[in-house]
Amino acid sequence: MFDKLHDHCGVFGIYGHPEAANLTYLGLYALQHRGQESCGIVASDGTKLRAYRGMGLVADVFKNDATFEGLPGPNAIGHVRYSTAGGSDVKNCQPIMVDYHRGSIAVAHNGNLVNAQEIRNGLEQEGAIFSTIADTEVIIHLIARAQCDSLADRIAEALKVVKGAFSLVFLTETRLVAVRDPNGFRPLLLAKLGGSYVVASETCAFDLIEAEFIREIEPGEMVVINKHGLKSYFPFGKVNPSPCIFEFIYFARPDSTIFGTQVYPVRKEFGRQLAREHGIDADVVVPIPDSGVPAALGYAEESGIPFQLGLIRNHYVGRTFIEPQQTIRHFGVKLKLNPVRDVIAGKRVVVIDDSIVRGTTARKIIKMIRNAGAREIHVRISSPPTSFPCYYGIDTPTRKELISSSHSIEEINRYITSDSLGYLSREGMRAAAGAPGGSCGHFCDACFSGFYPVKFPRLKSDSQLGLF
Ligand code: SF4
Repeated sequence: MFDKLHDHCGVFGIYGHPEAANLTYLGLYALQHRGQESCGIVASDGTKLRAYRGMGLVADVFKNDATFEGLPGPNAIGHVRYSTAGGSDVKNCQPIMVDYHRGSIAVAHNGNLVNAQEIRNGLEQEGAIFSTIADTEVIIHLIARAQCDSLADRIAEALKVVKGAFSLVFLTETRLVAVRDPNGFRPLLLAKLGGSYVVASETCAFDLIEAEFIREIEPGEMVVINKHGLKSYFPFGKVNPSPCIFEFIYFARPDSTIFGTQVYPVRKEFGRQLAREHGIDADVVVPIPDSGVPAALGYAEESGIPFQLGLIRNHYVGRTFIEPQQTIRHFGVKLKLNPVRDVIAGKRVVVIDDSIVRGTTARKIIKMIRNAGAREIHVRISSPPTSFPCYYGIDTPTRKELISSSHSIEEINRYITSDSLGYLSREGMRAAAGAPGGSCGHFCDACFSGFYPVKFPRLKSDSQLGLF
């Protein structure tokens, strides 16, 4: 609940189920944490695609039964989106759906393309017209222009041009295609529900509809699903995968399994490692709910200091109070959190959260805990300092706004007014994320390290970003 980075999106798709749109709605409901600004579903009855999209939460946009009557057919894809500044408009809602000379196609995208603007500029100069600001639309244009005969080849040809992060789900009249970029930045998983195939950003979506999780869609893999079954392709050149380590730190739900491991034990291990690296004499370990809870449990177990819910979160605060405006944000902290005086008063408190972005919210929460009578406040963060922006589908503030990019840990400690501050080390984080069951040894951790696994083609050198 210290100010957060936001994931851009979550995707879902199902092929061959009589209640495809309804199940997509439920899948999106489970993925709501990945994006709350807008959502949409496109369904196919085998001959025609139909779409319904809107601004707001899934339960609000799809509140009428009549909406589902307008989305008939056994195949559907869906999308939840967190929009960045300037993009908060219904025309940017996904899935994007278009008609072109080979039929209709819809796409839902989780991730961000680092060369989208460059490609878009070229296409616009050739006369292409764009109706959204989404980099996803670039992919649609490239598919429409591809000369290959098969859909799989057209999609592969288009995706060989783009660079960056993409977990994509496409729907045509008769096929569903799911693709993950060669680096595998964002998760994408496969399940079965009876005879139907299901794909989703996280396994929590499968759990809700009682689909059986089969496996991850591999980095660089494309699966094409039609009435004959599923075929897998690897159309891209092989690179070392670099899944996003922040999915483990914050974005994914703790009950999900991604990158070969359930999130919850990894998040707890971050807390254990944090206790080993930054132990302190204290009376109570208090998480910032909900994001700090698993790491705080790990910290408490490792340190032997009792875990207590010293801050209670109001779960019913609407989006109105967490709009990104300074004046309202101040109000928002008090609306969202309230200290439990009996837990905190007179105590030496270890406060745990997963990250500090700007530091402004952390400062207000520390003040709130101090006012509740804490004797000492020791802040422990279950990830390293977030010093660099993300270009792979996470909404980060500019580098200037990231407090860690320009302040030392001691300066941040003074700013947020804690008695001490400790961050998990990069080595400790990587070791904990590679814990039992982990299939990906080489995570992207560019927002901590500045080492970007996919470079930025439009820049002559990385130094132009001011990153190194
Ligand atoms: S830069 Fe950070 S948030 Fe972005 S993909 Fe890499 S680890 Fe994830």
